[in-house]
Amino acid sequence: MQNLAAALTARKQDKLYRTRQTLEGPQDVVVRIDGCDYLSFCSNDYLGLASHPEVVAALREGAERFGVGSGAAHLISGHSYAHEALEEELAAFTGRPRALLFSTGYMANLGVVTALTGRGDTVVEDRLNHASLLDAARLSGARLQRYAHNDMQALARKLADGAGQRLVACDAVFSMDGDCAPLPAMQQLAERHDAWLLVDDAHGFGVLGEQGRGWCIDQLGEGAENLVLMATLGKALGTFGAFVAGSEALIETLIQQARTFIYTTAAPPALAWATLTALKLVRQGDGLRERLFANIDYFRKGAGELELPLMESQTAIQPLLAGDASVALAWSDALRRRGLLVTAIRPPTVPQGAARLRVTLSASHSSGQIDRLLTALVDGYRESTHAEA
Ligand code: PMP
Repeated sequence: MQNLAAALTARKQDKLYRTRQTLEGPQDVVVRIDGCDYLSFCSNDYLGLASHPEVVAALREGAERFGVGSGAAHLISGHSYAHEALEEELAAFTGRPRALLFSTGYMANLGVVTALTGRGDTVVEDRLNHASLLDAARLSGARLQRYAHNDMQALARKLADGAGQRLVACDAVFSMDGDCAPLPAMQQLAERHDAWLLVDDAHGFGVLGEQGRGWCIDQLGEGAENLVLMATLGKALGTFGAFVAGSEALIETLIQQARTFIYTTAAPPALAWATLTALKLVRQGDGLRERLFANIDYFRKGAGELELPLMESQTAIQPLLAGDASVALAWSDALRRRGLLVTAIRPPTVPQGAARLRVTLSASHSSGQIDRLLTALVDGYRESTHAEA
């Protein structure tokens, strides 16, 4: 049996140990931990909907109408009117023939890839894809081929060399880098090789494109037969869960074959009810998106002037490269001592030597709060690199 305690100690020494912090109140730009208020720049609640009064009221109404637990899997007796209504709204919003709810984005990715590919097939993925897409390929039994980040020539080569049914899977907005995938070029390559294109728009849905339809729909329109759109509901929409949108035949196939859909309890219907309200707010949310993008511009301009190590991102995910895991951790700790929360992202989530602070911005942040962040980032960076020297 392996020595778990020794492995944990080694992890601590390598500055890779992870811990949780317990929020005492709602997710918001100011959160309470251990009785202290922190200004937070590390949630994915990009539009401030996680504790929006209308979404909270809808959840309450949903619980009164549908109870709490769904009581069963979707294919048994757990599929409620609230789930059905949300699937219809999501299909209409994305312009795809049908949508199917999954309990989480992780499960949606596992479900799609394992339903569409198996032994003898080829799954091709960007090196920086989210862990759930990589795990999905491994679970499918197909051959996993990875290509250098956003390198379309490498993608073309891997597709040409692949065997069996091919599936290309990628983040639309890369979760740790904030940059976007060149989807039109990917779609052309996928079509040429008769491959599926699975686009994970977890960080674009609700935020990018007209009415917040996301990076995928913005770039590819309502999409061809081979397009599989996956987006999560726990980020810009502020609730929980995920959906897949695509052709009628695709969705029916997932209902028959996606094990992470079939063998699990349906999410609480009240949550779907709350998500319907969140979706309405997203649709009407041009003002929220304008505020978010003004915040992104304001942060990038300020960070540029202060010569902070910005990365090439135009989205709400604004990483600052620290390099070493210990520097990223010391920087995050220095911010925390100043009352700010920004997470240090370390290997294996990102490659060795590419540890970073992952700043995420929300429509709810004020420019004064971003000023506070910029000042603390400069002071904290000085302190953390000094501590290293
Ligand atoms: N894909 C991406 C790109 C993500 O960032 C995440 C969440 N971190 C997921 C999938 C998983 O979604 P969920 O949290 O709903 O499981």
